[in-house]
Amino acid sequence: MMLDTGTLRVALALVDLTLLLLFYFITFRRTRSAYSGWWCMALLLFLVGNAAYMLSGTAYQAWANPAGNVLLVTGAASIWAGGRSLRAPALPLWQLAAGPAITAVASVLDHPATNVWAGGPVYLALMAILIGLGSRELFLLERGYSRVHRPLAVGAGILAVFYLGRLVAFLADGPDGAVFAAAFGSAPMTVFTAVTLVVASFTMAELSYEQQTTDLRARATVDGLTGLLNRSAFLDLAENELRRLRGTGTTASVILADLDHFKAINDQFGHPAGDTALQAFARACAGTVRSTDLVGRYGGEEFILLLPGVTPERAREIAADISTRLQQSGSEIIPRLPTVSYGIAAADAGPGSLDAAVASADAALYQAKTLGRDRAVLASGGGARK
Ligand code: GH3
Ligand code: MG
Ligand code: MG
Repeated sequence: MMLDTGTLRVALALVDLTLLLLFYFITFRRTRSAYSGWWCMALLLFLVGNAAYMLSGTAYQAWANPAGNVLLVTGAASIWAGGRSLRAPALPLWQLAAGPAITAVASVLDHPATNVWAGGPVYLALMAILIGLGSRELFLLERGYSRVHRPLAVGAGILAVFYLGRLVAFLADGPDGAVFAAAFGSAPMTVFTAVTLVVASFTMAELSYEQQTTDLRARATVDGLTGLLNRSAFLDLAENELRRLRGTGTTASVILADLDHFKAINDQFGHPAGDTALQAFARACAGTVRSTDLVGRYGGEEFILLLPGVTPERAREIAADISTRLQQSGSEIIPRLPTVSYGIAAADAGPGSLDAAVASADAALYQAKTLGRDRAVLASGGGARK
């Protein structure tokens, strides 16, 4: 059975329209992610572009074929922009518009009224380049980014290579040659495109949900103002860490930190300045400790750290380093940074040790406040030492 290109184009248009509606209403409206918006745009452009090609051979061919070329190349540029939005700042508009503009000029100058393949080589080359760039963006994402971006990158890569094959066959064989017609002509290409669109839409929907889940998980564990772990995430991770240490016989230190007279900072310089001080303290903590230590915002202007393998004495030196770093971090928004009081306790790796260590550190912190603030106090036999 031989299907003619016209029938295939109608089938492709129906597949494309169905995917567009499903993807728009089910995935895009729910996730509102930039790249799913670009994919909707690509599906729409492919739909309209292929519809324009249906006028090939009619009186409208002179403008319909160049329009089809430009719409499809713009669709390929959307694929590139969509891949890009997953990993880097948006592309400047001129870079996205360059391909379609070149295609328009090449198609219009190539006698589109009589030449069905007006601007063909330029169109094929730009499709290959832009889809290839989209594939490259997906390949550049970290391996652990999602389960589906690699297969999607491979799929886009295959499509780009297919367009490249069409270009080579077109240049070597001409649009009426046997190779081009059999392997790369309009009919096989239409079937290939339909399959690719279905696979890509399915994979993109999966990517949307994965991204949304990752985003929700991150928002549930991270404190919005400081970027540190929030209280419950810190406590979960600290419990895990202590459980892990139990196997190795190592202990850890817990530091509770509370900014001194913080209310006065807010009153004197305003709430945004207070926020800046909290962020500066979070940066001082993160910049001082090792990447394996845990730092969290315990609430308000109170912070908590778990330092595995660190003695309370060493933890006091680390607290002093944090304070030094905080005072060195000048900011135009806040003329004076607050001092900080610390309560420090050892956490052995036994069950319930985290709660006990936090309670001891809290008592030590209270002592640090009553002794005049701007100091660290060790729990369990630790006297006040500045
Ligand atoms: P002390 O030295 O005894 O700890 O005194 P303090 O003023 O730091 O303690 P207090 O508990 O009286 O005040 C804490 C203040 O922290 C009150 C609250 O408005 C402020 N605060 C809590 N969270 C935030 C925040 O996210 N941003 C800002 N700017 N202020 C906050
Ligand atoms: Mg407090
Ligand atoms: Mg305070």
